[in-house]
Amino acid sequence: MVENTIETMKSLLTIPAKQQQALVFPAVLIAFILNLFLLTYSLIAGLNDTQNQIALATAILKLAYLGIFYIHLIPILDRYPGRQWVILAVNTIVAIFIEFLDHSLPTGYSFTCIILMTAISSLIFKRWYTYIFLASATVAHIVTRGLNGQNVIDTIFLDLFFLPLIGIATTETMLRLQSSLQFEINRQQIINKVSRSLSSSLEIHQVITMVTTAVQSALDADTYYFGLLEGDTVHLELFYDDGEFFPSMNVPLEGTLAGQVIQSRQPLLIQDLPEERKKLNINFKLVGKNRVSLSWLGVPLISGKEVLGIIAVASYQKAAFDQRDLELLENIAQRAAMALDNAYHHLEVETRSQRDSLTGVLNHNTFLARLEQAVQTAQVCSQPICLIMVDIDHFKKYNDTYGHLTGDRVLIELTQTIRHNIKKDDLVGRWGGEEFIIALPDTQPEQAFLVAERIRAACQKIIILDRDKKVIPAPTISQGIACLPIDTNSLEKLIDIADQRLYLAKERGRNQIQAQTPVANSLLSTN
Ligand code: GH3
Ligand code: MG
Ligand code: MG
Repeated sequence: MVENTIETMKSLLTIPAKQQQALVFPAVLIAFILNLFLLTYSLIAGLNDTQNQIALATAILKLAYLGIFYIHLIPILDRYPGRQWVILAVNTIVAIFIEFLDHSLPTGYSFTCIILMTAISSLIFKRWYTYIFLASATVAHIVTRGLNGQNVIDTIFLDLFFLPLIGIATTETMLRLQSSLQFEINRQQIINKVSRSLSSSLEIHQVITMVTTAVQSALDADTYYFGLLEGDTVHLELFYDDGEFFPSMNVPLEGTLAGQVIQSRQPLLIQDLPEERKKLNINFKLVGKNRVSLSWLGVPLISGKEVLGIIAVASYQKAAFDQRDLELLENIAQRAAMALDNAYHHLEVETRSQRDSLTGVLNHNTFLARLEQAVQTAQVCSQPICLIMVDIDHFKKYNDTYGHLTGDRVLIELTQTIRHNIKKDDLVGRWGGEEFIIALPDTQPEQAFLVAERIRAACQKIIILDRDKKVIPAPTISQGIACLPIDTNSLEKLIDIADQRLYLAKERGRNQIQAQTPVANSLLSTN
C-alpha cells in the first residue's frame, strides 16, 4: 500500500501541458514575430524575385509549424511522454529543411531561429534530445552557409563556435530554471495530495502512513519516522532507515533529538550532526541501521496547545536539508497534526460509544458483536470458547442499605476484579444492571471454572466504605459457565445455557459457580 501511494505521488511529478505552453510562450511569440517580419518583408519587396518567394514560403512554413507545435504537439507530449523522440525528429527535420530552403537569408536570422527552437526544446524535452536538435541544426546551418559561399571566418566563429555555445548556455539555463520550478510544483502537489487524503483519514495508522509516504517522496532522506508522544517517551512509528522499515520502538524524551523538538515545540535543523552533537548535549542512540546520520531535521506536531509528536528525517550526507525542507516538513506536520487530532477524537467517540459509562467494560451490543467474531474465529480455528455469566447476589440490598452511589462503587470494584483475573484478549461486558458476562477464547471448561473461582474468591476481598467510612460486607457473586463446542455449537444457546446455569447457582444458594462438566464439578466438590 505504501509503495502504491509513493507511485501515485511520483506520477504527479511532470509539468502539465498548459504550464509547458506558458513556459515556451515567449520563445514561440518571438519566433512568430520574426517570421511575420520576414513574411511582410518578402511581400513588400515583391514576389518577382525567387529569393523573396523562398523567404515567403519559409515564413509561411515556420508560422504554420509554430502554430501546430504550440497548439497540438505540446499537449500530445503531455499525454504520450514516451513519444518525445517523434516530435524531436519532426522538429529537427523541419529545422534542417528550412536551413536548406532559406540559406540565402541573413545568417543572424537563421541563427536566432535555431537558438529560439533550442530554448523551446530545452523547456519540453530531455537534455540530450535538445542537444541532438542543436547539433543537427548547427551542422545543417554550417553546410548550407558553406554552400552559399559564406566567409570562412564567419563560419568558424559564428556557426562553429558561438551557435553551439549560446545553444548550450540557453539549454542549461532553461533546464536549471525548469528543474527548480518543477521542484516547487512537485512539493505543492505533494502538499495538496497529502491535505486531500488526510482530510478523509479518521484512522491514526492511516494518517501516519500517508504522512510518511509524503515525506519520503518530498525529501531526499535516508531515514524518516513519525513519533507519537506517550508520557515521557516518544513512540516511533513506521521507522524507515536506508531501505528498510524497522519495528516501532519507544525512545525517552530526555536527552534525545526527538525529545528536544517536542519539549521546545520548535523545529530543529542540523546540517552537521557529529559537529553539533557536542553543543546539543544529546545522548545519541543508534536506532535502525548501525550507521550514524550526518544531518537531521525534525518538526513538532502541534494541535492547539498540545504537542502530539514529531516528524523527523535524517541523511547519511552532511547538509542534506535546508530551510525550504524545514518549511515543507512544517507544512506537512501542520496538516498531520490536524488529522491526528481528528483521528484521536474519532477513536475517543467510538470507544465511548462501545463502552459502559459507569464501569468502562463493553456495553451489551458491542460485547455481543465481539462475541460473534470470537465464536467465528474459534470455530474456524477449532478452538473452544467459554462464557461466564456473573450476577451480584442480593445487590438490591446494597442499594437499599448503603445508597445508589455505594451500589455503583460495588459495580466498579467488581469489574476491576474481573479484569484483574482475566487475560488481555478475554472480553468482559455489562449484560445489564448488575449482571456481567465474560468470554474466554481458546479456553477449556476446566480453565474457565478456575477463572470463575478466582473471581469469586477475589470478590470476597473487595473493600468498600459506606457514607460513614465504615467497611461494608464484600459482595458475593453467582456464576454460570457454558462452553463451545462441548455444550453447544450455537451462540444463542451458549448464552442461554450460561444464563440458566447462573440461575441454577442462585437457586442452589448463591456465591457459587455452575458448570456442567465432570471436571468442573469435581473441582467444585473439592472446594
Ligand atoms: P439476586 O441475588 O437474585 O440477583 O438479587 P438482586 O437483588 O441482585 O437482583 P435484582 O434483579 O432483584 O436487583 C438488581 C438491582 O440492581 C436492581 C437495580 O436497582 C440495581 N441496579 C441495576 N443497575 C444499577 C446501577 O447501575 N447502579 C446501582 N447502584 N444499582 C443498579
Ligand atoms: Mg443480582
Ligand atoms: Mg440481576
